This record gives sequence, C-alpha cells and structure tokens, in this order.
Amino acid sequence: MRTHRTPIVGAKTWEAVMNRAGWQCQCTGSCNSKHTKTGGRCHVLTGGREDMLIAPSDLLLSDVAKARVPEGELLAWCDSCHRQATTKQRKAQSAETAMDGLFALEETTNHGLGVNAL
Ligand SMILES: [Zn+2]
Ligand SMILES: [Zn+2]
Repeated sequence: MRTHRTPIVGAKTWEAVMNRAGWQCQCTGSCNSKHTKTGGRCHVLTGGREDMLIAPSDLLLSDVAKARVPEGELLAWCDSCHRQATTKQRKAQSAETAMDGLFALEETTNHGLGVNAL
C-alpha cells in the first residue's frame, strides 16, 4: 500500500482514522462535556461519512496546516464535540493572547522600575 498524503477530507484517510477510532468519537473532554457518563469518552458512533469529522487535537490549525497533519495524529470527532471543542479552544486561545499582552506589559513595567508594582 502506498502511503499517499491525502487531504483531510480524503475518503481513505477518513476510513483509516475511523477504523483506528473504532468508528466512535474520540473526544475525551476537549468539548465542554467530560463524558463522565460514558467512561470519559464520547459515546457517539458514526453512521456514515456525514456525521463524523476527522481533525487533529489542535482544532485551530488552518486548513492548510490540518492537511499536513499525519494520519496517525488525526482524531475522530462527532459534530457536536467538534463544534464545542473548537469554540472552547478558540476561547482559550484568545484568553492566552490576552494574558500574553498582560505579561508583556508587566515585563516592560518591571524592566523600567525594577519592582513589580502590582
Ligand atoms: Zn463526540
Ligand atoms: Zn466531547
């Protein structure tokens, strides 16, 4: 079998990832649900290509970057987990960016005064 890098939507990649995932969503709490009722993993099984997505754990990668992620690092996501996990990661990222700005500011202040005034 040739290892051909198919784009993220490629049927072969999708099937390979689903096979590995056992045709079940691989979310273990990246979305807002911790899936405690179903043993820490989402219970959603795929019934067809339309209802399950494959994506790397970092959902904020650009489409180009996603397409370069090796098949072994792709995960199966049900639609609901994918949507919620993306929202969550986006929020976390913007919070991080805000924090970075804060730290940068603090650093500059420290540099000037030599004391953390806060
Ligand atoms: Zn799920
Ligand atoms: Zn989930």
